[in-house]
This record gives sequence, C-alpha cells and structure tokens, in this order.
Amino acid sequence: MKTVIVGAGTFGASLAWTLARAGEEVVLVDQFEPGDTRATSGGESRLIRCAHGADELYTASARRARALWRELEAESGAELMVEIGMAWFAQREDGWEAESERAMTAQGIPCERLDPREGTKLFPSLGIDDLAFVLFEPEAGVLRAQRAVQALTRQAVAHGARLVRGRATPEGDHAVLTASAAAAVACGALVDCERLEGDAVIWACGPWLNRLFGELVPLKVTQQELLFFDGGPAWRSPGTPGFVDYDLAMYGTGDLDDLGVKVAFDKEGPALDPDAELPRAGATEPIVREYLARRFPALADAPLKEGRCCRYELSADSNFIAARHPELERTWIVGGGSGHGFKHGPALAERVADALRGGTPLPERFGLGARAAGRSFRTAGSGVR
Ligand SMILES: Cc1cc2nc3c(=O)[nH]c(=O)nc-3n(C[C@H](O)[C@H](O)[C@H](O)COP(=O)(O)OP(=O)(O)OC[C@H]3O[C@@H](n4cnc5c(N)ncnc54)[C@H](O)[C@@H]3O)c2cc1C
Repeated sequence: MKTVIVGAGTFGASLAWTLARAGEEVVLVDQFEPGDTRATSGGESRLIRCAHGADELYTASARRARALWRELEAESGAELMVEIGMAWFAQREDGWEAESERAMTAQGIPCERLDPREGTKLFPSLGIDDLAFVLFEPEAGVLRAQRAVQALTRQAVAHGARLVRGRATPEGDHAVLTASAAAAVACGALVDCERLEGDAVIWACGPWLNRLFGELVPLKVTQQELLFFDGGPAWRSPGTPGFVDYDLAMYGTGDLDDLGVKVAFDKEGPALDPDAELPRAGATEPIVREYLARRFPALADAPLKEGRCCRYELSADSNFIAARHPELERTWIVGGGSGHGFKHGPALAERVADALRGGTPLPERFGLGARAAGRSFRTAGSGVR
C-alpha cells in the first residue's frame, strides 16, 4: 500500500513512522520543517498522562502511546519522554480526578490518591486549602514535543519514507503541491512534485484542516499562551512533577531543560488564523500570577523568563477527528487534537493504519461534520473561580 500523508505534526509523522516501519510505501509532505513552532506540535514540551476522566478509550490510548514513544526512543536513540510524574488537584470527591482514578485502576495503570497534606511533599510550596485530594500519576510526565516530531520523521525516513517540503491542496483523491517544488528537490525528495497519488491520501494538517475541508472539519483555531517562570533550583524537573488543575483550567510542569517552571491558563483564547504570525505572549500573566499565589505561593513573584504563543485546533467535543472522506474513496482526514492530542500520536496512528488496511473501523466519535459540545479532555477551560 502506498500512502501520502500531508502534515508532519504528531499525527501525520506518527502515521508515517508506523506505516514505514511496517514496510509500507510512504510519502510525507509538510510546508515547514518538522517541529516548526508554527505547527501545533512544535513546542518544547507536552504532558503525557493517562487520566481522561471516565473515558476508557483515551485512557488506554495514552497508555499504549507511552509504550510506543519508548519504542521510538529505543529506535532513534533520543531521550523524548521524561516521567516526572503528574499531580491532579481535585477540588471535589466526585469530579474528573475521581473518575480518572477509577478508569486508570480498572486498566492497571499506576495512580495514587494522596491526602492534600501528603501532596505538599511533591512541590516546594503548595496551597491546599481548596483541595479534597491529589491524584498522583507516577508514570506520567513530559514529551519533548519538537524533538519527538523530528525523531518520528527521521525514523520514518530511515524506514524508507520520502519527505517532501511543500504546501499541498486536495484535488479529488490526490494531493497537489502548490508551492516549493524547488524545496522538495533541495531536501532530496525524488517524487513528482506536482501531483501525489497513493492508495490513501491522509490530510493531517492540524489547524489548517478547516481551511482545506470547510464544514466537514469544523475546528475552532485559538491562540494559547505558555508562561515560563524562574523558580530557581528547587523547582527543577525531574524532582518537581507536572500538574493539572482541571476545574481551574491551569496546568504546567516544573523546570525541565532549564526552560523555567511552565504554567498555562487553558481557557480558550481568541481566534487566530492558522497562517497569522504568532503574537507576543503575556496577556495571561495576571491570571496566572493570581493562580500561582493561590496554588504555588513561593512562585507568586517569580520572574517571568519567557512567554510563548501557540494554536489550539478545537473540535466541539474535544474528540479527535479520524475518518474517511464521505465522497472520496482514498481521502482520509486526521486531526482535531483539541489541546490534548500530542501524547496520543503513535497510538492514534496505529488505529488509523489498521483502518487503512481494512481492519477495525475508526471510532464513530472521530467522525467528520458538526458535533454537539462535550466535556473537555484537556481541562474544564472555564477559568479561575
Ligand atoms: C499550548 C499547547 C499546549 C498543549 N499541551 C498538550 C499537552 O500537554 N499534551 C498533549 O498531549 N497535547 C497538548 N497539546 C495539543 C497537541 O500539541 C496537539 O493536539 C497536536 O500537536 C496536534 O498535532 P497535529 O499533527 O494534528 O497538528 P500540527 O502539529 O499542527 O501538524 C500539522 C502539520 O500540517 C502541516 N500542514 C498544514 N497544512 C498543510 C498543507 N496544505 N500542505 C503541507 N503541509 C501542511 C503543518 O505545517 C503542520 O506541520 C497542546 C497544544 C498547544 C497549542
């Protein structure tokens, strides 16, 4: 089977790696170098955790992905996943965290319910007045996202995939390169630069999908910020775990790779065109500092080292999109990461590869077209109360 994949983010590059290592013919196209910061997969780090409330599919998918990321590390020699552990701050006995605990326990995934006072041992300072408990996932952690995408692409190429640099548009069941034939030559690709044909053509174009396929892929593209604070050596990771405050829509990590303590306000930001320049970050600093004063008091006045902007591409119910085009036999669409897709890349790729070969159909909830709003698999996104 020959597969053309447009988009080398975590979804497209994972699929390229999965198919190529199985000996299949793959052409992987991207308008940028893999790992470019304009793609949603382009940041330095992304959390990997199995907790997904009561949802069995995503819980199992994250666990499977963890094993596949380890396989990629073994193949590539790159250290991509750092299991710093993750703390979920539960404000209620019956919320997302309790559901996650039940779902993970049922699947044999390690997790531990801590009294808030025990939770204080995990961080140099922790405000616990509002906490019912802390759910700790010891095998959760961080993926070095940009490096992971580059490793996926490199390994796909090592297994025989051809990488083409260019911007493609759908034309019937084909992908037509609309720019950068010269770049394709420059990067050593030998394919026909005009028209790419395969038994399957996969469009894994992140925030650009809506522009390519309109209402079949109704994604909301938003601007999100990541802030990095100088907390000093006490906040280094490993040592300090990652965290998610699901109900308060905040998440982050300790200081990994000297980037600073990462803290992000996860409420949906303003709309941002996929081709627009990423704006300067900083608008969320006041609300993040308010949160720090409450949850991590020692960081309340920590200097801001850096801020980054990036894009979410959100489906209405935060489920992914992975489905065949309703009118085009060979065309498939994969995306809708909805702020929680990175970690699942290789596991979603396994599912898609199986479906391409005529195996298990993709889950109905990954289907195309309009969807009703649903509970978020990221955070509640409702902001600090
Ligand atoms: C701030 C932030 C924090 C996040 N935190 C987490 C987290 O902690 N854990 C987690 O699991 N997930 C997280 N996510 C979500 C995750 O990063 C995304 O779900 C995932 O990266 C989406 O990957 P993708 O492959 O669908 O899209 P992308 O990475 O955007 O890849 C799409 C690719 O397609 C290419 N492309 C588009 N159109 C064309 C075209 N016409 N021709 C050629 N190439 C094209 C683009 O250049 C791009 O490289 C976060 C996202 C953001 C923004």
